[in-house]
Amino acid sequence: MVHILLIMITQSQNDASVAGSIKVEYMLVSFDHANQKVRLVLKGEEMLDNLQDRGEKINPNHPTLWRPEYGSYMIEGTPGQPYGGTMSEFNTVEDNMRKRRQEASSLLTENDSICTITSFPRLGCPGFTLPESTPTPVEEGASKSLFFPDQAINKHPRFSTLTRNIRHRRGEKVVINVPIFKDRKTPSPFIERFHNDDGEGVRAAKPDHIYMDAMGFGMGNCCLQVTFQACSISEARCLYDQLATICPIVMALSAAAPFYRGYVSDIDCRWGVISASVDDRTKEERGLKPLKNEKYRISKSRYDSIDSYLSKCGEKYNDLDLTIDKEIYKQLTAEGIDHLLAEHIAHLFIRDPLTLFEEKIHLDDANESDHFENIQSTNWQTMRFKPPPPNSDIGWRVEFRPMEVQLTDFENSAYVVFVVLLTRVILSYKLDFLIPLSKVDENMKVAQKRDAVQQGMFYFKKDICKVGIAVVDGCNTAHNGTETDPEEYALMSIDTIINGKEGVFPGLIPIINSYLENMEVDVDTRCTILNYLKLIKKRASGELMTVARWMREFVSNHPDYKQDSVITDKINYDLLVKCNQIANELTDCPELHGFTVDKIKLSGNKTVSL
Ligand code: GLU
Ligand code: MG
Repeated sequence: MVHILLIMITQSQNDASVAGSIKVEYMLVSFDHANQKVRLVLKGEEMLDNLQDRGEKINPNHPTLWRPEYGSYMIEGTPGQPYGGTMSEFNTVEDNMRKRRQEASSLLTENDSICTITSFPRLGCPGFTLPESTPTPVEEGASKSLFFPDQAINKHPRFSTLTRNIRHRRGEKVVINVPIFKDRKTPSPFIERFHNDDGEGVRAAKPDHIYMDAMGFGMGNCCLQVTFQACSISEARCLYDQLATICPIVMALSAAAPFYRGYVSDIDCRWGVISASVDDRTKEERGLKPLKNEKYRISKSRYDSIDSYLSKCGEKYNDLDLTIDKEIYKQLTAEGIDHLLAEHIAHLFIRDPLTLFEEKIHLDDANESDHFENIQSTNWQTMRFKPPPPNSDIGWRVEFRPMEVQLTDFENSAYVVFVVLLTRVILSYKLDFLIPLSKVDENMKVAQKRDAVQQGMFYFKKDICKVGIAVVDGCNTAHNGTETDPEEYALMSIDTIINGKEGVFPGLIPIINSYLENMEVDVDTRCTILNYLKLIKKRASGELMTVARWMREFVSNHPDYKQDSVITDKINYDLLVKCNQIANELTDCPELHGFTVDKIKLSGNKTVSL
């Protein structure tokens, strides 16, 4: 299994410039206007076949690619070709997203729609799917959930097998407890009774929390991911590390998931929910029982933040306990793989494979990477380090995975372009954001809290641009030694980090702007980029709302809302109708975007002042 990795690591390097591929996950919803209800439609598989038949299967240059996702009401879309490195490509990101939305929409009936919402507010509530299906919490099922029917899981056997095997490995159903938002009339303590419960639910549910018991509550959420192509393995390692520190910041900025199982929660992001939804660790591995049958204590779920930096300059900031498979580490180092990379791989391999297809067991590891990918693809971390597949000229890549998906193609493009530009300034100016990983983990916790963008304080490096330092292998070597200095970082607000604060921090957007001033960019592309950066800037300063905040206000101002944290069918319907109108530019939403849709549409008339 590890053999393949040695081959991949010693393969030739690719000299493509930093570019990317952008994944958007979608939900299919159906509006029942007569009864004022909205439901998730379980026809992702059928849609996928249809989209592929009309697209990539008949035209290798088709501009879109479609892939399955966990929910059978979900689908994932990427551009047909990865982006190149030129500035004008920033102008094509949104167009391609629009194409995807249009392509999928054209296959839907009038009352159905494809939505980019991170979490469906009434996911797991009675009758949330179309066709309606009732959960059957039986041992033979996949989830055994009291709320999330197996019919809502993608029909491909991979997904139900993952679900069942996570539950079996753990030795019980997954447990997700999200703090409820205590409104004026929310019962206190908030304790639910569950119909059909054999006792597992009531034992696992915490008071004052929204209890969920299935992988679907996590993996049934949508996100926005970007993969970057690096010039070399060392550049990939550098980007992996630098971007890891940015994950909590951008996640908080993209917050779009405040509601779970029909209730208003006290968190704004999906991250912890997905993490708990695929936590297959046994009690011993979680440290709840003394180690007897298991090999290790494991501190995090398979879906969580990264555990080690990979670049030389990251090494001294690796302050998390790293559980590794020692045999694999030995094998890799014996073959000449360096300590940090060997540790990274040996850490991924502490996880058991969750699914294996019989016909894919005996493989030629020198030419096929399935065994590696099987472990890699079920280690869902904030960043993913992607070695080149065997026998391909695809180089080293890193994937940035924390972002929540936004309602519109405009917003999604803005977040993506912001992160892509950030990679450009990181590499061009040799910026250094590294702080101890334990501090990044603390930031991850803060980032998910309600209103973290406004209220949260995040550890961030104070001096990120050390000019004139030696640069080796894409990372700066200004800080020698192994000690980290707590004076290097300070607690900052997202506004300070993104927009800067006189005498405190220069701000990521001002740095990006100065980079753009030195680049040749055509006027149209520049307008587009400035509009994107304006959105990020204003979300960070609080002038514009995050999707999470906006959704909270929508619910709280809804005439049917009883200040009891409950999202009724009618509230959900009205919210989704509004989201759908916004996404399809049938109405504008100044609280979210700051300007009217017409201004975006009229390309010759864009507002560009920053
Ligand atoms: N839907 C998951 C999320 O929201 C990601 C699944 C994937 O990696 O495709 O993070
Ligand atoms: Mg996906």
